[in-house]
Amino acid sequence: MSSNASCIFCKIIKGEIPSFKLIETAKTYSFLDIQPTAKGHVLIIPKHHGAKLHNIPDDYLSDLLPVVKRLARVLKLDENNSPDGEGYNVLQNNGRIAHQVVDHVHFHLIPKRDDKTGLIVGWPAEETNFPKLEEYYNELKKELEKEESEKL
Ligand code: 5GP
Ligand code: ZN
Repeated sequence: MSSNASCIFCKIIKGEIPSFKLIETAKTYSFLDIQPTAKGHVLIIPKHHGAKLHNIPDDYLSDLLPVVKRLARVLKLDENNSPDGEGYNVLQNNGRIAHQVVDHVHFHLIPKRDDKTGLIVGWPAEETNFPKLEEYYNELKKELEKEESEKL
């Protein structure tokens, strides 16, 4: 388990800074966000210090997502199985340009009950361009083959 003495979320895990703790497992810690964008805005973090997703070992990541699912149940976000009405977002930011402020990986679980609260998403989208996609896809497949052969 890696920890960073100056990291605010490592301090929360250790209890050096108080938090409104929810579910805790051997590898995951969750608590209320102190500046919620919606009632029930929760943060779920690995008990392993790392700034970005790729810095976190797989066993911490595989422990974490079931905790997100349990919290969705606790927050009663699992009651609506229709695409319409109340929903929720799971958000994980990496790097300042991607809106990350705290450099310890964290997943936001954010109820989306109305237009005014919760996550507001906007991104520029290109028109579909199949030749351009195919060219890029072929580049990626080469990278994947390289990555797979390096694993062997
Ligand atoms: P980010 O923009 O890095 O994805 O989100 C950081 C989140 O951490 C913000 O939503 C912010 O409100 C929350 N946060 C920052 N400091 C603290 C703290 O000391 N305690 C808690 N509970 N949340 C914090
Ligand atoms: Zn940390």
